[in-house]
Amino acid sequence: MSRERIVSANHQPEDTAGEPTGPTIRPKTLDDYIGQSQLQTRLRIAMTAAKSRQEPTEHLLLHGPPGLGKTTIAHIVAEEMGTKAYVTSGPALTKGADLVGTLTRMQPGDILFIDEIHRLPAAVEEYVYPAMEDFKIDFTLDAGMHARVVTYRLQPFTLIGATTRAGLLTAALRSRFGIAHRLDFYEPSELEQILARASEVLNLNPPDPAALTLIASRSRGTPRVALRLLRRVRDFAQVHQAQCITTELADEALRLEGVDEQGLDDLDRAYLKVIRDVYDGGPAGLEAIAATLGEDSGTLEDVVEPYLLQIGLLARTRQGRQLTSGGQTSLPLLDA
Ligand code: ADP
Repeated sequence: MSRERIVSANHQPEDTAGEPTGPTIRPKTLDDYIGQSQLQTRLRIAMTAAKSRQEPTEHLLLHGPPGLGKTTIAHIVAEEMGTKAYVTSGPALTKGADLVGTLTRMQPGDILFIDEIHRLPAAVEEYVYPAMEDFKIDFTLDAGMHARVVTYRLQPFTLIGATTRAGLLTAALRSRFGIAHRLDFYEPSELEQILARASEVLNLNPPDPAALTLIASRSRGTPRVALRLLRRVRDFAQVHQAQCITTELADEALRLEGVDEQGLDDLDRAYLKVIRDVYDGGPAGLEAIAATLGEDSGTLEDVVEPYLLQIGLLARTRQGRQLTSGGQTSLPLLDA
């Protein structure tokens, strides 16, 4: 079963509706990028060193839940290095040849961004190793007796890989990245800054700062969710002909969308209730919970669990998923 969730951290078309022609919400430079300060520092050092050596930046692996700004970083590195970013994803590349066209077109220092790199087929990964290490690709011409391997030299480039599941990456691939960084959930104050900036880009009448605090606190530490909630609140305000976004209005709009004070939605609540009611608080295996809910276990692992773990409602033990004491005490809330 697939449900559309307003708090889903996965990209949805409405997230960028109306953006390409107007000013964009996506920050273009590291100075505009809010939060992830350790990553910012590491990137500044890596890019400055690379520039002084006149080399491309080291290959970079970014991991963490969706919507935290991995794609944005790829575009920022290209912008800061004065090069171009080519964007693709693991599932879009089915055979080695799919990558050859892009790799051979790239200019020195260009960025190849591969989203969901853990889903790269083995056949494509074979092409990626020599490309990353020696900036060359080997491809086989003809077949059978006449088969010969032709080596093609590439311009030095930077591969930026993004994944929600670093654990699924082969060790061989992981070891070829010079920098690996895990993105953290954002602090509410950082999300407030992102929302304030987005309000300007979207040309809203300055919202009540307390309203932005409220939206930030229900955004699951995720910029993509924060920006989506802001758009929904904006629509709600417009329909109610409100001059500006107030706390009451934001609260009403988000309640209407089924988002509670902690940023949990129906799917989160259903997930927690299954552990409580069907599995007696746990521990319960992920596959069993997924089957009871009629949901895909990968979706639960990628987009539901990380935030529940982060806010301490859920624990992952050897035996399975378990409600924490915090999870138990927030149960009356779940039933509200
Ligand atoms: P990911 O690739 O991790 O799924 P994206 O890079 O697509 O996430 O970011 C999702 C949305 O959040 C984009 O609209 C982007 O503009 C915004 N965003 C992400 N990180 C930041 C940040 N640090 N500062 C401002 N906006 C951000």
